[in-house]
Amino acid sequence: MTSSARLLIVGPQGSGKGTQAARIAEALGIPTVSTGDVFRANIQAGTPLGEQVKAITAAGNLVSDELTGQIVRDRLSEADAAGGFLLDGYPRNIQQVGDLDAFLTERGESLDAVIELNVPRDESIARLALRAKEQGRTDDTDEAIAKRLSIYESETAPILDVYRERGIVDTIDGVGSLDEITARITDALSARGISRAATV
Ligand code: AMP
Repeated sequence: MTSSARLLIVGPQGSGKGTQAARIAEALGIPTVSTGDVFRANIQAGTPLGEQVKAITAAGNLVSDELTGQIVRDRLSEADAAGGFLLDGYPRNIQQVGDLDAFLTERGESLDAVIELNVPRDESIARLALRAKEQGRTDDTDEAIAKRLSIYESETAPILDVYRERGIVDTIDGVGSLDEITARITDALSARGISRAATV
């Protein structure tokens, strides 16, 4: 029997999805693939990719589907992602859902579950403001935050309807302690037969 954990976590900026993604991926023994982290690392290191996306991410806009898709395909083709992965921040619009579907179908794969982290808008904004202060993230200006939340609502939230039709979305209440939220996610995944025991 082959079992897998090909997962996606979706939530507005400030929902804590990056933190939860790291915890869940570690618990399941799979890598996290975060497009935002890839862009930030490249910007920090001053690579050509970083130079290309710096202004776009700083303004809170989306990097092109083509470039982002290529980065994800390259990463998912690495050996450690063969048995599963947790995508964080990709896909982010309907076009990217189609691109990812095409890539996974080619490999005879599909997503097993999509975790939707639900956090009220006010709470997201408060958490983002705090993160900007604590981490000094240059893409966390007030304008960029507002822009990213509105892009989330108009472009990213609709991808959940596509996955809902496939019956693979678990909606998780993202308000509570880190441990409580992680437990909610692992419980929902266990109910789908996705757990560390099933992935190793
Ligand atoms: P994140 O940390 O996921 O909020 O990503 C930070 C920034 O990277 C975003 O505001 C976008 O500019 C860019 N980015 C991350 N993922 C994507 C994606 N799937 N498509 C386009 N741009 C992205």
